[in-house]
Amino acid sequence: MGRWARRSGQPTIFSKIIARSVPATILECLVFCDVVPQAPIHFLVIPKRPIPRISRVGPQDAELLGHLLLVAARTAQAEGLADGYRLVINDGNHSTQSIYHLHLHVLGGQQLGWPPG
Ligand code: AMP
Repeated sequence: MGRWARRSGQPTIFSKIIARSVPATILECLVFCDVVPQAPIHFLVIPKRPIPRISRVGPQDAELLGHLLLVAARTAQAEGLADGYRLVINDGNHSTQSIYHLHLHVLGGQQLGWPPG
């Protein structure tokens, strides 16, 4: 078991942020700054519905997934990421996903390397 709840059935840290029992710097409804930023600007976009990971979504989630991308793009623009940014969704062990509540990472504010590690 990692630092955060994974598959235990317990609420994840993100559920607690939504419930306001864990503080976060919230940019807007379901967007907040990553507490361990990996770039000058690093925020997360999460759905309120606790989908555990991208590999578990289905056709019924299409509208929600589109909404998350739109919110990511709109927030990146609002954050001044005019020179570009990166969207990352980690899925499962090989990606080092640590919180099993679907989330988009949005990283920018500097030149990013490729390929990722
Ligand atoms: P992942 O490894 O893709 O599951 O990403 C989880 C992310 O959640 C990591 O980048 C963490 O730094 C971030 N994180 C964990 N707890 C918090 C918190 N309380 N507030 C904001 N970000 C968090």
